[in-house]
Amino acid sequence: MENKKEMRTWLNNFNLPHPLVIAGPCSAETEEQVLKIARELKDSKVSVYRAGIWKPRTRPGGFEGVGEIGLKWLQKAKAETGLLMATEVATAAHVKLALEHDIDVLWIGARTTVNPFAVQEIADALQNTDKIVLVKNPVNPDLALWIGGVERLYNANIKNLGVIHRGFSTYEKTKYRNNPEWQIAIDFQNKFPDIPLIIDPSHITGNRDMIFQVTQEALDLNYDGMIIETHIDPDNAWSDAAQQVTPTRLKQIIFDLTIRKETD
Ligand code: PEP
Ligand code: MN
Repeated sequence: MENKKEMRTWLNNFNLPHPLVIAGPCSAETEEQVLKIARELKDSKVSVYRAGIWKPRTRPGGFEGVGEIGLKWLQKAKAETGLLMATEVATAAHVKLALEHDIDVLWIGARTTVNPFAVQEIADALQNTDKIVLVKNPVNPDLALWIGGVERLYNANIKNLGVIHRGFSTYEKTKYRNNPEWQIAIDFQNKFPDIPLIIDPSHITGNRDMIFQVTQEALDLNYDGMIIETHIDPDNAWSDAAQQVTPTRLKQIIFDLTIRKETD
């Protein structure tokens, strides 16, 4: 664990606190929505603002993201709040646009990590970048596929790498939207202690009432950060409505987590 602390280099290089807090809506919906949420998160423990621009929906016919225009909204949010901006990329074209708009953190979604061709294409497009790149676990409980995705990026000389644990699909219904299968993330962490591990309680639980508990469990396991979907009007969000929390609730969750940690 000491080792791990020393090697969290990019958190230090980017002057980011530990644990890292990433928050923002599942999807960028309108300019106003993006800016409103960012303003609410400005003077808080949040360092990175997330918003999906290209949304990999499981089935067609739903909202699939606002696309490139959303990158302009993120640029505005960054200029106004100073928060680092994060979005999901799934193709080389996404990477190109995200880099052109100076997005700070690019994440690879769970439906992309399963596909070595897609990950390789992204790795090639990102070659040598100084940006922060986060790799979500694949949708299926396959540690090797997760590791393989990270290795493809590492081999492309991308040094500021982290991983996001967002749980795994199961056919049977459980209390989680995506079963955490904690052991898989623990195994990842044991194998790569120098790569920051971030919990995504939103996609694990699918339910805003369980966000605190899952985040606390992760911090108790020595995770390095959290990514929590946050929306000014969660019930009317255009994607993942049931799991998003308000900025006020997010701040309460973070406050409670801190108190628990300090009294440990
Ligand atoms: C998301 O972060 O909104 C998302 C689509 O997540 P995942 O890739 O984990 O399903
Ligand atoms: Mn989502």
